[in-house]
Amino acid sequence: MAANKKLLVLPGDGIGPEVMRETRRVIEWMDRRRMVSFDISEDLVGGAALEAHGTPITDATMQAAKDADAILFGSVGGPQWDKLGFDLRPEIAILRLRKELDLFANLRPAIVLDPLVDASTLKPEVVRGLDLMIVRESTGGVYFGTPRGIETLADGSKRGFDTESYTTAEIERVARVGFELARKRGNRVTSVEKANVMQSGLFWRQTVTALAAREYPDVAVAHMYADNCAMQLVRNPRQFDVIVTSNIFGDLLSDLASMLTGSLGMLPSATLGAVQPSGKRHALYEPIHGSAPDIAGKGIANPLAQMLSFAMLLRTSFDMEEDATLIETAVTRVLASGLRTGDIAAPGTTPVGTEAMGAALLAELDRMAA
Ligand code: NAD
Repeated sequence: MAANKKLLVLPGDGIGPEVMRETRRVIEWMDRRRMVSFDISEDLVGGAALEAHGTPITDATMQAAKDADAILFGSVGGPQWDKLGFDLRPEIAILRLRKELDLFANLRPAIVLDPLVDASTLKPEVVRGLDLMIVRESTGGVYFGTPRGIETLADGSKRGFDTESYTTAEIERVARVGFELARKRGNRVTSVEKANVMQSGLFWRQTVTALAAREYPDVAVAHMYADNCAMQLVRNPRQFDVIVTSNIFGDLLSDLASMLTGSLGMLPSATLGAVQPSGKRHALYEPIHGSAPDIAGKGIANPLAQMLSFAMLLRTSFDMEEDATLIETAVTRVLASGLRTGDIAAPGTTPVGTEAMGAALLAELDRMAA
């Protein structure tokens, strides 16, 4: 039996607990069948923690997050908490986790599974087989840079301003995440900025170029302006393997890339911290969708993005490539059999709810392991 891996499970609000319930069944299956053992604790977060403890995330949960090898997160938020002050909003939980664990690299894969190739708004021949990864710097750049503000000028008019700023260390640590990932995939990195019009973009390009030459001579590196990257993602997305970019460009490009797949209920993500001297790295895995209050409690949410987040956790935090692939293959096979939750429904497919989708996935895992 491999050493216990400490997992903190935070289902959150809305459909979070529904899709996490099905994912817990997959984790239990892994525990039973694959000779790995997870030491799992589960806790409240977001609106659920607010109701129970008066705060979106307690200090005890934060400590559990710091102690965990990986965090599997659901989603937080809902209309009942929308009118609360900023510090009490359920979303503060995720901001606090990102800040205190210093989760600076956001990984968003955009993968088109064959059975869902028609879900994309792009032509099947453009997106079939798409498998790209966007690595977005997520704790720096213009969203956090200072000075920032809205000021009144001498003539009484106003000016709003923000600052885009990146240090060598900030660029290198996120670029390293991209290069390391590329080595396990197609060995190609595209670094994206606006070196033509921004000093911080020029510095980004110089820093990535120097890092690539020094530490990753085996990885093919290309540089692209962010506006061209947006065009290329729609024109020919399969040209990319790993894209590494800043906070603001990554925000836009990763949303664009996720829509190439056409299915919000299918997409996982990860946010990683630095590798510590002990070898441990804080990491949080979550679906990109939110708490979907419009369908919460109806038993119809798609649990696959949450399950694929768990697969990503196995691969990224624990190097369990084979087990991650097993889950991903089971997902593809279940979809190929024609089962669909409402969000990915298509003519000629069989509609199922959350629980039935979970049961079908477990049955497929059983078949594959037999
Ligand atoms: P959303 O992703 O929750 O929902 C958008 C649409 O997609 C809805 O129609 C929803 O029903 C559908 N959808 C989403 N996930 C689905 C799934 N797994 N299966 C089937 N359908 C699915 O985005 P929103 O409506 O903008 O936000 C709702 C709440 O979630 C807000 O409070 C928002 O702040 C929060 N949110 C949280 C996170 C997070 O926890 N990281 C991320 C995004 C939004």
